[in-house]
Amino acid sequence: KPRRATPPGGPARIPGVKHLIAVASGKGGVGKSTVSANLACALALEGRRTGLLDADVYGPSQPRMLGVSGRPASPDGKTILPMRNFGVTMMSMGLMLDEGQAVVWRGPMLMGALQQMLLQVQWGDLDVLIVDLPPGTGDVSMTLAQKAHLDGAIIVSTPQDVALIDARKGIDMFGKLKTPILGMIENMSTHVCSNCGHEEHIFGHGGVAAEAERLGVPLLAEIPLHLDVRRASDGGAPIVVSQPDHPAAQVFRQLARRL
Ligand code: ADP
Repeated sequence: KPRRATPPGGPARIPGVKHLIAVASGKGGVGKSTVSANLACALALEGRRTGLLDADVYGPSQPRMLGVSGRPASPDGKTILPMRNFGVTMMSMGLMLDEGQAVVWRGPMLMGALQQMLLQVQWGDLDVLIVDLPPGTGDVSMTLAQKAHLDGAIIVSTPQDVALIDARKGIDMFGKLKTPILGMIENMSTHVCSNCGHEEHIFGHGGVAAEAERLGVPLLAEIPLHLDVRRASDGGAPIVVSQPDHPAAQVFRQLARRL
């Protein structure tokens, strides 16, 4: 008889994966993928066996951010071999689709694809698997929270009200589905001019800290808005690995030590 990882109907544990952590945001473009990529690389640098599942089906950016390309192999036609870079085992919907191809799937197909990436990818033994979710509270986020044994969710937001309002909805959804909130991350916290070093609060200041306090969850990190962060990600090597001494990289290293 095949061994079941979990009782039927209950949330599934991924065999070999100790901790499953989701990175979520209310809105798109707030830096959820940037945080996921840098956090995964930082955890690997701390010596943790780390995986990253890019479940942002509408805008999978991890192949580019982690400098991974090509189609994953499936030697037995049933399981899929993940890719690996910077010590991170990774899989992305972006590797299964051709670039420029739009996802026009409905809920059940998205849920099937998520379950396939969780359970049919040969993740191996991992201390932590980070899941980069699509923005918002749609089918993929709900399915993950309901069907997988999630240890917790990290919510990324900018300090702007429009982003915070949506972040609140995400927190509410995880609360309803009994997923613990590990904390919030303020991204694009302060803009540091790469020319003169002048600091400016483009998206406001302290909004995420105030929200985290109101909700009684930790503020895990404040990540500066810096040209080098964007350049590093676009270049296929997150700032944590390409410029380890950069102040933004240090913030991610501290975050990884905290988790
Ligand atoms: P999301 O996953 O929330 O849609 P991304 O991580 O793709 O957001 O970030 C959106 C864009 O902003 C990307 O081009 C990314 O490189 C850039 N970006 C994100 N965070 C920062 C930051 N702290 N400093 C500079 N650029 C950033």
